[in-house]
Amino acid sequence: MSPEEELRQLKEKLAALSEESERLRQTAAGLEQKKTLLMQQLAAEQGLKPLTRIYSEGYHICHACFAKERSGECLFCLALLKRSANAIE
Ligand SMILES: [Zn+2]
Repeated sequence: MSPEEELRQLKEKLAALSEESERLRQTAAGLEQKKTLLMQQLAAEQGLKPLTRIYSEGYHICHACFAKERSGECLFCLALLKRSANAIE
């Protein structure tokens, strides 16, 4: 195989890989969106209890970061939980 031919084949492989990774990226983004929607739906249907659970499992329930993984406490989430608890009592 000539160096030119080898280079051409490598470029083709690279292009195919870029396409593949772009497709995977889009799939991942779509799944992330679906997860957020489902969690929002669940929270809306069942009220405070799942929100508390979702939060305690390590996800945000505040609007800004809903369903994203959280590290440490989030003041917005805590305020929301407190407000929801007060509303129910
Ligand atoms: Zn939060």
